[in-house]
Amino acid sequence: MQKAQCENTSANTTPDGLQVWGDEEEIVAAAIDYARQRIMRAPDRVAAARPAADLALAAGTAITPWGMGGAAALKLFDQVLAPATRAQNGSTNLAYIPAAPTRAALAFDAVTGAANIFAGTWEAGAGAIHAENEALTWLTRLLGWPGTAAGCFVSGGTLGNLSALITARAAAAASRPRPTDGWKIVCADSAHSSIRSAAQAMDVKVVTAPVDHRGHLTGAAVDTVLDSATGVFAVVATAGTTNAGLVDDLDDIADSCERHQVWLHIDGAYGGAGLAAPSVRHRYSGIERADSFIVDPHKWLFAPYDCCALLYRDPAAARAAHSQSAHYLDAIDRDVHNPADLAFHLSRRARGLPFWFSLAVHGTERYTRAVEQTLTTSRLVTDAIRASGHLRLTIEPELSVILFERPGWGPQDYAAWSTRAAETGAMLCVPTQWNGTTVLRMAFVNPETRADDVIEALSTLR
Ligand SMILES: *Cc1c(COP(=O)(O)O)cnc(C)c1O
Repeated sequence: MQKAQCENTSANTTPDGLQVWGDEEEIVAAAIDYARQRIMRAPDRVAAARPAADLALAAGTAITPWGMGGAAALKLFDQVLAPATRAQNGSTNLAYIPAAPTRAALAFDAVTGAANIFAGTWEAGAGAIHAENEALTWLTRLLGWPGTAAGCFVSGGTLGNLSALITARAAAAASRPRPTDGWKIVCADSAHSSIRSAAQAMDVKVVTAPVDHRGHLTGAAVDTVLDSATGVFAVVATAGTTNAGLVDDLDDIADSCERHQVWLHIDGAYGGAGLAAPSVRHRYSGIERADSFIVDPHKWLFAPYDCCALLYRDPAAARAAHSQSAHYLDAIDRDVHNPADLAFHLSRRARGLPFWFSLAVHGTERYTRAVEQTLTTSRLVTDAIRASGHLRLTIEPELSVILFERPGWGPQDYAAWSTRAAETGAMLCVPTQWNGTTVLRMAFVNPETRADDVIEALSTLR
């Protein structure tokens, strides 16, 4: 009886009564069961990419005119494709910026997909957008911004930064003519590569301001640039640089932007999560004065890919910059909160929902504890490096990124050690550069990472 009802409502026949997709019930059950197991299972530490030719041979041809069927396609994913991807949530994955989503968030990512919500417009996605906005409001409060602030979720920090900068330029262009030598963005060399990419896409120039001895962009440095440069429409400060986890002098930079009446965008893609942690909250002082802000919950806020929260103090400026108009869109109500109007996108999934669900399930206090836990772990490892005879800290960490060296080693030694540690599954830790020298870097975003495991892995750097 229930099966018949299910078939009646699933409408998988053509008007002529032909089955379009056949009976998909079995594959739905298998895929959902697989997703459940995958979410619950411990990550595979040695799963890794393999050469393209090798992978092509192992995978064979999956897409054929007749289809391979659900069981075979799932098996292919489980046994060949998935093992050729890196486990981002491995507890000793400290390379680049990993990700450690909660299981609740991962499960709800599957639910979000199942619901197939168009979350570009309020009219199509109101319930989902309401929930996303509640998660954004939590961030707005952490920032100390007014309740009128608003934004949306985009795929990543790159798109968040681009969208914010497009808004900033539109706001500047609305009040003054295009400068003869073009529009400019001011940022430090330590700003994320996506700022340069955004500038390139927007055909604007980047003026680099120097950082001080602590690696911070300072108000004085911004002042010096703004006093002489013309056509600057935005200053980008970073709250948690990707390479070293440093927070620029936000309050002094905000002073400078205020004096020069320039838009202040704060890139907190990685480090914005620290706003939830009382032990480092003081570093963000001044963030309440920014005009726009991004944080990637897929980095240090325990959400799955791909999820960047983009916020504006004045969402009207974003609407003016981003609303797309076309005859087929004429019917859209523009007086409501349409995420499509606030960034460089139109169609979008409700990618903030897994983050919202996890916050709702666990509560914000658990989030605070989880972020603090990663900070505690990185402090324990920092102390161990400081106390060790064979390693040296490169700079004093401010958040949860650690740069360190093995005196006497060069780039080849680091590369060989890093490859070996990845192959054995001991840890993922890759070299970077600091002031022109090769050093090692670890980024902690996983509250399940144990300092002892990391310290033990570091003992192999002798
Ligand atoms: C990671 C990062 C970005 C880019 O974010 P994606 O989500 O990878 O596009 C931008 N800025 C900073 C500071 C980052 O750490």
